[in-house]
This record gives sequence, structure tokens and C-alpha cells, in this order.
Amino acid sequence: MNCKKAKKRIPLLAGRELSAKKALRLKKHIQSCASCQRELKEYEAALARIRVVAQKEEAKDWNENEWKALMKKAVSEEMEPKTFPFKINPKLALAYGFALLAILILAGILIKYFVLKPKSITPLAKPTIVKKIESPKIPPILP
Ligand SMILES: [Zn+2]
Repeated sequence: MNCKKAKKRIPLLAGRELSAKKALRLKKHIQSCASCQRELKEYEAALARIRVVAQKEEAKDWNENEWKALMKKAVSEEMEPKTFPFKINPKLALAYGFALLAILILAGILIKYFVLKPKSITPLAKPTIVKKIESPKIPPILP
């Protein structure tokens, strides 16, 4: 496991949301990686603080299920690209539409520039086909 993958899963480990198998693999990496070790400690400390605050605030319905739901929400927001919001007003929808269009156009230009252009300016060398043209056999003209 590399750091990039490990760091994505550290919040899950801190929140005890990882499966045993994944947690074991992650822990193995953390044992040999100071950077990830520090990150896990930071997450655990932060979560501990949140729990203390939540208890002090006397959140009446603060139970384990809600905690898990919150963790899942926090993690999924971090890991997955946000889905397009459907319940929005028409003005905002229009703004989103234009923004999306602008992104698509820009992406199109970039793709055209970086992917297609180099190919068009460096055409593949065509293999030269050497045709062996057999000269027709002309019968010798006898005097
Ligand atoms: Zn690491």
C-alpha cells in the first residue's frame, strides 16, 4: 500500500469504519511510515475532541448510529466527487449549466491541443512499399 491510498483510508480507520482486512493492511503501512502515523494520530485526536465537545454540548440524540452516519458522510464527501445537486433554483441551474459548458469547452480545447495536435503534426512515417516490377519479357527480336 502506498501513502496516497493509505491517507485516503486513515480517516476511516480513525473512525473505526474500515473492514478488518483493510484496517490490517493500513496498519501495516502505518507501522512503517512516520508520515501516515502522524496523520492517523492527528485524526484520532481531532475525533476525540469532537466527541468531547459533542458530549459537553449535551447532544441529546447523539448515539453511535448517528456518529457512524456522520463519519460516512464526512468520508464520502471527501472521497467521492460531489453529485450534481438536483434541487436547485432555475437561475442556479442555468449558472451551473454555463459553468459545465465552459468546462466542457475548455476540456475539449485542451484535449484537442494536447492529444490530437501532436499526432497531426507528427504523422507516422509511412512504410515505403517497394514494388518489384517485373519487366515484361520481350522476346528477342531476331534479325
Ligand atoms: Zn505512508
